[in-house]
Amino acid sequence: MHRKNFGRNRVLQPSAAYTPVNEQEVLEILDRHQGQRIRAVGRLHSWSKAILGDGVQLDMRRMNDVFLEPAGDQFVATVGAGCQVKRLLKELNRGGATLHSLGLIDVQTIAGAISTGTHGSGRHSMSHYVEEVRLARYDESTGKAFIDEISAGDELLAARCSLGSLGIILSVKLRCRAQYNVQEHFTEARRLEDVLSAEESYPLQQFYFIPWRWSYFIQHRCEDTGKRSFFAKMYRLYWLGVMDYAMHLKILFLKRVLRSRRMIRFSFRRIVSLFLIRKWRVTDRSSSMLVMKHEAFRHIEIELFVSRDQLPEALSFTKEVIEVAGSKDTSLSEVNQQRIHDIGMQDDLKGLQNQYCQHYPICVRRVLPDETLISMASGGDQDWYAVSFISYAKPSRRAGFDLFSRFMARSMSKLFQARPHWGKISPLEASELTSLYPKFDTFRTVSKTLDPQGVFQNEWTTALLDADD
Ligand SMILES: Cc1cc2nc3c(=O)[nH]c(=O)nc-3n(C[C@H](O)[C@H](O)[C@H](O)COP(=O)(O)OP(=O)(O)OC[C@H]3O[C@@H](n4cnc5c(N)ncnc54)[C@H](O)[C@@H]3O)c2cc1C
Repeated sequence: MHRKNFGRNRVLQPSAAYTPVNEQEVLEILDRHQGQRIRAVGRLHSWSKAILGDGVQLDMRRMNDVFLEPAGDQFVATVGAGCQVKRLLKELNRGGATLHSLGLIDVQTIAGAISTGTHGSGRHSMSHYVEEVRLARYDESTGKAFIDEISAGDELLAARCSLGSLGIILSVKLRCRAQYNVQEHFTEARRLEDVLSAEESYPLQQFYFIPWRWSYFIQHRCEDTGKRSFFAKMYRLYWLGVMDYAMHLKILFLKRVLRSRRMIRFSFRRIVSLFLIRKWRVTDRSSSMLVMKHEAFRHIEIELFVSRDQLPEALSFTKEVIEVAGSKDTSLSEVNQQRIHDIGMQDDLKGLQNQYCQHYPICVRRVLPDETLISMASGGDQDWYAVSFISYAKPSRRAGFDLFSRFMARSMSKLFQARPHWGKISPLEASELTSLYPKFDTFRTVSKTLDPQGVFQNEWTTALLDADD
């Protein structure tokens, strides 16, 4: 039996696979497979090696109950590990509640989403809001499976984002909030300063750095105490029809059928902006406004987190590298050439020249510093900005993107301490990755305490836990 992930870049071949219905069954499976490698999966929407494992696989989709309780002026929800975010949002909405933070899609499971630090824009990542994790693991003295409730200290900070490495998450207690409306509208800006200064009025905003046009399309967003707009439904239809489908079909046509770099560049310079209706202000329920159908077409993604003070330089570096990767005769500015020289990556840059044409807007989202040990936005005293690069090339034609993503991850981690998203393409070596997290050592200690035999690890997480940083 084998399964592939959403991006078709990972194949899972477990020795045994289960879809347990309750906690008791999970414990029985663990007892039956004592001493073997065990890994839980969600909906396989990760591109990274976090989902791999050739031992026993637990798919938790049938454990998806939701219980909502008030907690002061907020709410707390206890959510079965395999509950998809969309079902959770529906259940919360029935009780007048919603999540504090939401990614671009809602098909992930809650355990999968928190395990890789899934985030949206303008808030912390989803991991930050976790109050308690019920975890199935082994008792060291008896060797038997038992349920551990993790609700405080470094263990909680580790369990909030744990790459599947502490044990099998059974359920999660999440801080939630009252349902709210979001108002959104688009503008275009030429200068990054203007984009960033708009955050004061639109704290939930995200923006797209448009390749080849090199301007910023800003999706201004803020909470709105007003009612849903009369046109909210029409706006949703516009998003679905025009942005989620028409724009993506156009990109697929250019990339997969026409395969013309010239047309891709022309389209971003002149055509993409035609899809945008500027200054159309619409208010809708947060859980409708903050997500899109980004899973409609298969793609692959790398996302790099930089702190706010690094963002301007990181984006100007990005622009120059994309230009070099996309043509034979472009070179970096002197400043960036010097940077590449300083980190010894001149040959890598030469190898990238003319090998990859960026064909998707670069989405940039602000994430507030998390209280976790290793989520990408963990720690620091500044906001983090997640800069994402997506390819719609067919899975068999991703060599250019592989080269580009490796170059970006290696150069940006060295120059700007950029952290790759744990759930997306993550081409760094284990020690390069762990050195980006000042609290990785604490995570390592928690992980080795809760799982001393390493049965919940795969090769990738074992390398991370064993890395010298
Ligand atoms: C189209 C698309 C859009 C996306 N948009 C965003 C976005 O906007 N923001 C963002 O941050 N990310 C985004 N992602 C990434 C995605 O949110 C993460 O990769 C997430 O981890 C996927 O959740 P999943 O349920 O599919 O889990 P999987 O990918 O199946 O698993 C992820 C990790 O969780 C672990 N895990 C799952 N369940 C359990 C459990 N019960 N116990 C222990 N460990 C468990 C797995 O072992 C693995 O390590 C997107 C991905 C796609 C494909």
